[in-house]
Amino acid sequence: MTTSIVCLIERLKMKIAIASGKGGTGKTTVATNLAKYLSENRKVVLVDLDVEEPNSGLFLNGSLMNQKEMFKKIPNWESENCTLCGKCQSVCNFNAIMKLGENIMVFPELCHSCYACSELCPTQSLPMIPMKMGMLTEYKVEQLGFVGSKLDIGQEQAVPLIAQTLDYVDEMYSDDYLKLYDAPPGTSCPVIEATKDADFIFLVTEPTPFGLHDMKLAVETMRELKKPMAVIINRYGIGDAEVEAYCKVEGIDIIANFPNQRYIAELYSQGKLIYPHVPEFKAELLKAADYCKHLVKEN
Ligand code: SF4
Ligand code: SF4
Repeated sequence: MTTSIVCLIERLKMKIAIASGKGGTGKTTVATNLAKYLSENRKVVLVDLDVEEPNSGLFLNGSLMNQKEMFKKIPNWESENCTLCGKCQSVCNFNAIMKLGENIMVFPELCHSCYACSELCPTQSLPMIPMKMGMLTEYKVEQLGFVGSKLDIGQEQAVPLIAQTLDYVDEMYSDDYLKLYDAPPGTSCPVIEATKDADFIFLVTEPTPFGLHDMKLAVETMRELKKPMAVIINRYGIGDAEVEAYCKVEGIDIIANFPNQRYIAELYSQGKLIYPHVPEFKAELLKAADYCKHLVKEN
């Protein structure tokens, strides 16, 4: 581990996000196996923030602790005092509110709940009201806490649900928990919301040209966020050595190379954790777990 990384984690808050430049790289496999393995010896909570397609919970059979509907606030037009000045439309950066003739139309699925229209309306004609956007579920799997949220069908804004899920975890799980975030794939706003509070990023990739291309984008995004990071290669052996060459040039640690095996894919398709069944996978998982322990200063 480089000195700069050690310095950056001096102020450790124990939040590690597991991200990837694209979907299908095995990010959830890494997150679930790492969380369950680490929880054998310490307090861990795994948070599924891939709210459009959460599936971490499929691999963890636990006891249901809590389930709650999640709401965001949207403006509700009250026509009585509205002067149709149009200020609400002009302050909205997301085209979520429009003046159409003598009506003000709100498009809830586009609304980011920023309150700008409501607060700047000169006649207080846009009070914010709650609208259901998804469901949060919390499980306990032996020593492991698991929290995941799922966006309702038709909802397009993942960011407010991710933000509220993180708030819930911070409220319910003290700082002595290692918090692992299973982030959404890609480099767009939901990823930034899911990683902006993390102390460290594990980027999961495949050793292929596509994997490298998307990983480079993810590295750029994390550098803009000033996040220290390390790489985990999944399906090691299927492609070439370009990911390793890139990481070497860029000074990014590769902390584990999970093997490409048909049996692993079969276990995954059956919703099973991998490390109890595949020694080669477990050997790499131990490397990732050791790296985590360095990060949280347990060694
Ligand atoms: S800002 Fe308020 S008063 Fe102006 S058009 Fe919008 S709702 Fe009506
Ligand atoms: S709350 Fe913000 S995002 Fe939503 S309609 Fe108003 S200005 Fe637009």
